[in-house]
Amino acid sequence: MSIIFQQKCFRCKKNYVTVSRGQRYIICYDCQKQDLHKNIKDPKMKKFFNIPEEFYQKNSFLRDIKIKYLQFGELSEKQIDAFKKTVKKYKEEKKANKL
Ligand SMILES: [Zn+2]
Repeated sequence: MSIIFQQKCFRCKKNYVTVSRGQRYIICYDCQKQDLHKNIKDPKMKKFFNIPEEFYQKNSFLRDIKIKYLQFGELSEKQIDAFKKTVKKYKEEKKANKL
């Protein structure tokens, strides 16, 4: 079971971010928004990251993965898997709540 807690954003020191244990780079959506919208050249990865914006708003882990990709240009299989799992979970939640 992952432990989830709230921590203040490192950058603005104003907004709280929901994080799970082991996450180091804690930045809120507002502060990351600009970085998140950088253009992705690889069409496969573009599709991969093409998920509803609210998922990025809600989840700092998803933002983290996208920022990492934008920074380094690649992701490990483990990161890709974790990203997919989180997105799937959100999609199911969304369906269940009929949002
Ligand atoms: Zn912030």
